[in-house]
Amino acid sequence: MYEEKTMHPKATDFIQSMIEFIEGLIDKGAAYNVDGNVYFNVNRAKDYGKLSKKSIDDLKSGARVDINQEKKNPMDFALWKKAKEGEPYWNSPWGKGRPGWHIECSVMAKTLLGETIDIHAGGEDLQFPHHENEIAQSETLTEKPFANYWLHNGMLTIDNQKMSKSLGNFFTVKDIGKEFDLEVLRFFLLSAHYRSPINFSRDVMEQLRNGLERLYNGKSNLEYLLDKALDRELTEVEKDILKKIDEYKYDFVENMEDDINTADAISSLFEIVKYSNSNFNEKTPKFVIQYTYDNLIELSKILGILYKKDEILEEEILKLIGKRTKARKEKNYQLADEIRDELKEKGIILEDTQEGVKWKRV
Ligand SMILES: [Zn+2]
Repeated sequence: MYEEKTMHPKATDFIQSMIEFIEGLIDKGAAYNVDGNVYFNVNRAKDYGKLSKKSIDDLKSGARVDINQEKKNPMDFALWKKAKEGEPYWNSPWGKGRPGWHIECSVMAKTLLGETIDIHAGGEDLQFPHHENEIAQSETLTEKPFANYWLHNGMLTIDNQKMSKSLGNFFTVKDIGKEFDLEVLRFFLLSAHYRSPINFSRDVMEQLRNGLERLYNGKSNLEYLLDKALDRELTEVEKDILKKIDEYKYDFVENMEDDINTADAISSLFEIVKYSNSNFNEKTPKFVIQYTYDNLIELSKILGILYKKDEILEEEILKLIGKRTKARKEKNYQLADEIRDELKEKGIILEDTQEGVKWKRV
């Protein structure tokens, strides 16, 4: 059974398991110790390069001249590194040192998820050598497939530039959260295929915020009609509406089954909303509205959006704040207070600060 659980393991909590993992590889003849540095022998891995579709020979000829005389092959990589003066270290059978970068992931994955992971994700820049090396270590030790599926996402650019501190365009999810509802950020990430590069800009975020609001409006429209609609037999024409909704759903499923094409799957949600906005009214039978609503919610849930319940939307909050600010300027304090109370009723608390009005949901 699927259980939802999130863990953020720390590599330093797994040092002993890493040592045991490396010992296992040495016992199998797939790793060797040279004066406190332990290397993985890529010639001992079955199909090294299968993930990134590189062959050892190609890699060797492409590799820079390796000055490390300790390695048997230039492509061999460190499992354990001998500590240099002043570096943090742990004790090991090979002396004081620290684990190599790749081994950390293999060991934490094996300990927490088992010998075979279903889906391993990561940025496309990690495919080689990092993920390739994870496979080599893990499959050599366990003799089982390391991951059934690999998802490598494209890179994020900011205003068509790479994100970097020196360009001054570096920011975190938390920073974005100050400006945009994070549901908009999720919607943004879903708006491109995960393998494609994606470009962040305020313009795009604003467009997506509007798109998301359109979906929310469609959802509350259906909720409103559900309240009014009558339970009655469907006519033949009304039965066809259900088929129409099914078609949108099939499109969604088809897109998602096509390597999780969320970019195109999203359009089904807009189609459902567009269709119901222009075809449903107070006379539409309850069953049709409920059916449409349930499908819209089911599909949105798969994407993790439209989860807010009857909440006042950000756009509306900002509009009301603007109205209140104007009222205060015009010394219409009664109206200003009314707006404050109206927002409070909807769970929005305003705070007047020197930089202007701030709001939060409570
Ligand atoms: Zn990793």
